[in-house]
Parts: sequence; structure tokens; C-alpha cells
Amino acid sequence: MSHSLVTMSYIVAAILFILSLSGLSNQETARKGNYYGMLGMAIAIIATTLSASVTVYGILIAALIVGGLIGARAALKVEMTQMPELVAIMHSLVGMAAVLVGYANFMDSTIAITGVEKTIHELEIYIGILIGAVTCSGSVIAFGKLSEKISGKPLLLPGRHWFNLGLLIAVIGLGCVFLKQTEVGDNAIIPLAIMTGIALIFGIHMVMAIGGADMPVVISMLNSYSGWAAAATGFMLSNDLLIVTGALVGSSGAILSYIMCRAMNRNFLSVIAGGFGTASGGEAAAIEGEVQPIDAEETAKLLLEAKNIMIIPGYGMAVAQAQHTVYEITKLLRDKGKKVRFGIHPVAGRMPGHMNVLLAEAKVPYDIVFEMDEINDDFVNVDVSIVIGANDIVNPSALNDPNSPIAGMPVLECWKGETTIVLKRSMASGYAGVGNPLFVLENTRMLFGDANVTMQAVLKALKG
Ligand code: NDP
Repeated sequence: MSHSLVTMSYIVAAILFILSLSGLSNQETARKGNYYGMLGMAIAIIATTLSASVTVYGILIAALIVGGLIGARAALKVEMTQMPELVAIMHSLVGMAAVLVGYANFMDSTIAITGVEKTIHELEIYIGILIGAVTCSGSVIAFGKLSEKISGKPLLLPGRHWFNLGLLIAVIGLGCVFLKQTEVGDNAIIPLAIMTGIALIFGIHMVMAIGGADMPVVISMLNSYSGWAAAATGFMLSNDLLIVTGALVGSSGAILSYIMCRAMNRNFLSVIAGGFGTASGGEAAAIEGEVQPIDAEETAKLLLEAKNIMIIPGYGMAVAQAQHTVYEITKLLRDKGKKVRFGIHPVAGRMPGHMNVLLAEAKVPYDIVFEMDEINDDFVNVDVSIVIGANDIVNPSALNDPNSPIAGMPVLECWKGETTIVLKRSMASGYAGVGNPLFVLENTRMLFGDANVTMQAVLKALKG
């Protein structure tokens, strides 16, 4: 394929990626956005494969087959609740690719450039490996935390900020040594290797220090880093499309991190510094009071008496895969003339947009799905709120206990309505590991059991 044809294909692919991102920003157009992305990626792979830079087809085809098979198997096998972990581990692969490409470039003796151009190329290698290594190890830890293989509690080493500062200074110093060494001798691999080790340690330490409820920001931040790592790879390989694509992922991930921070009422720098809620000093208030259980028949009765109903889904709905039963109930109640709405917290579930994906899968109409800010003031008019497998996102202590580990995080204020029914299996805490006083409030009823089983029992009672 001629050089200009490859460039043309790259421009078309880049436009498709931009269309994909804009499509993904809205539920109604998200499906189309996915198709644009798939088409753009297909064009990018074909154009790169047929470009003059590829001379050995055997290895390329073998790598495409092996990578494609592993990807297809992972995508087919993954449960919806494991999706955040899969995304996290994929980010670590992007980081690892940037590190490997960096080392391959460093060792490539066929690159014959000198002067400023050479220095810039070496800087690209250094920065590419740095971002790649932080992304790689940070994403592995994020995977561990999301899959609960590693505790969600923040690891707070004494003097951790000084430790981080020390690592940063060491990385800058080693960068200077690296550039000097490449001028005079062939020992530059030593500072490069030490920096890689430091970057890996920094990635581990950064994510280990982040507490449960801050993880959404970290997920989108690592997403952003993986984009910058890809862009750095693009610079090293002089591939314009990789630079553009990496920059798109990097900047959209950064914007998402900002949105997540705003939703959590958190400052981006304090999230990165880690230890959400540990600065308050005092003890979180103990949860005292009596739990009032309810059964499916009584729940159905309350729903039939109510006019204004709010459904609040959380991670437990994803675990129970209760979205289809929930929608059946919604349809039935709407047919009876009830006002039924869904209230979605920005960090509900385990990945941004998690609940919206589940509700779209169950074909819940978009016009009854509302974001927290749109409906939070309206709970005073709600007769019954049903909290389906949610916990942290409806925890009143975030607002009224300054010593709570999630103090300051905005939550769905369902307790302001007449009655709240919480569906969960036990009194266990949610992802942030915080007790929830909502469960013992006077106007709260607990419907214990797997959310899909209890929702089906409610549906049966409603029909009966
Ligand atoms: P939580 O993790 O706070 O609570 C989920 C609740 O669901 C648990 O208390 C659990 O209780 C219950 N549950 C689990 N399985 C079932 C089941 N089969 N049937 C019924 N209930 C079930 O979830 P939320 O959605 O309220 O909050 C999200 C949390 O995750 C926040 O802390 C957020 O910061 C964090 N997070 C969010 C990310 C994002 O991007 N959205 C990413 C990473 C973390 P029980 O065991 O008693 O059943």
C-alpha cells in the first residue's frame, strides 16, 4: 500500500475514533459509537498491516491470531461484573507494550539519527517507558483491588508523600544520567532499567494508597495513562495514528477522571495522594438501631399503594443480574399508572456507566433513567424507594458524619422519601467497607436475599 493511501486510511480511522467517542457520550448513540470504533480499528489494522513498514508477515499474522484468540476468549468468558477487572488488566497490557516498545527502540541499532533529533528520540523512549511502567503496575494493583484479591483499604506508609517525592526526584535525576550516558558510552541501559524499577514501584504504591471509594477515579485515571502510554509508543514508532488515538484516550480519560472527582466531591490531587477519609482523625459513629425486615408480599403491597416510586440500582443488581426482573416490575407498575423512575449515582457499580449499561441491556427506556443531580431534590415527593444491591451510594453518614471514611461524597438521599426498601443479602458493608445507618432508620425496611430471587418474589406477589 502506498504511503499516501496509508495516511488517508489513518485519517479516516482517526475521524471514526472521534465519532466513536462522541457516540459513546450518550446512551441513545452508544451502540453506533461502538460500531464506529470497531470500523476505525479494522481500517487501522489493515492499513498498518499493508504499509511499507511491515516486511515480515509471518510473525505479524501469528501475533494477530494469538492476540485475537486470547481477546475473543476473554470477551466471551467475562461476566458483566468482571468487566472492570478485565478493563484494568487490559490497561496493564497497554503499559507493558509501551515499556517493551521503548526497550526495543533503545536497542535498535538501525536508527541512524544524531544531534537534537537523537536527544528527542531518547527522551521519547525514557518518558514512554516511564508512563508505561506506572500504567502497567498500577493497573495490576487496580485489577487486584477490583477482583478483591487485594484489600480495598488504603495502604498508608509513614512518610508516603516524601517517598513519592523521592521517587520523582530520582526519576528526573536518572533521566539526566540516561541522556548523558547515551552521548558518551553504552551504559545508558543501567539508568533506564533503574528508572523502570522505580516507575513500577511508584505505580504499585500509588494505587495501593487509594481507598475503596476513590477507586472510580483511579480506574479512569489509569485509562487516561494507558492512552498517554499508547501516544508515547506512537512517537517512538513514528506512527501518527497511534499518537492521535493515544491522545484521544488520554484526554478523554483525564476528562472522565475530572467528572468522577466532581461527582465524589474530591480534589484530584488528594485522590492521587491517597488515603480517602483518613485525615479526619476522629472515629466514625457506630451504627445503632434495630433493623426492620420485610417480605416480598409486604413489599408488593407498599408498591401497589405508592404513586411515586424510585429505583436505585447498585453493584448488587449487577451481581444478581436482576435488571430484567426489575424492568418487568417497572413495566407492571407503570401499566398501573405509577410514576416509576431510576436514580443513578455516578459511581454506582464498579465502573463508570455500569448501571446504565445494565438498564440498557434490560431495555429500560432512557427517559425514566435520571442522574443523581437531576432527582436528588425530589425524594421528599417519593413514596417508596427500592435500593437494589446498593450500599455506599445511599449512605447518609457521607453527609452527616464528618468522621465517616466517605464524608463529603454526595449520595442519593432516599431516606427523605416516605419509605425505603433495601434489597441485599446480609448486613455486610459495601465496597468502601463503611457501616450504613440507612439500614436502621425508622422508615427503612430490609428485604434480605439475592436481589434477583427477591425481585422475582415481588413480581409474583404483584401479579397475584
Ligand atoms: P456497594 O459495593 O457499596 O454495595 C453493594 C451491595 O450489594 C453490598 O453491600 C452487597 O451486600 C450487595 N449485594 C451483593 N451481591 C448481591 C446480590 N446478589 N443480591 C443482593 N445484594 C447484593 O455498591 P454501590 O453500587 O452502592 O457503590 C459502589 C461502590 O464501588 C462505591 O464505593 C464506589 O466508590 C466503588 N467503586 C465504583 C467504581 C465505578 O467506577 N463505579 C469503580 C470502583 C469502585 P450483601 O453482601 O449484604 O448482599
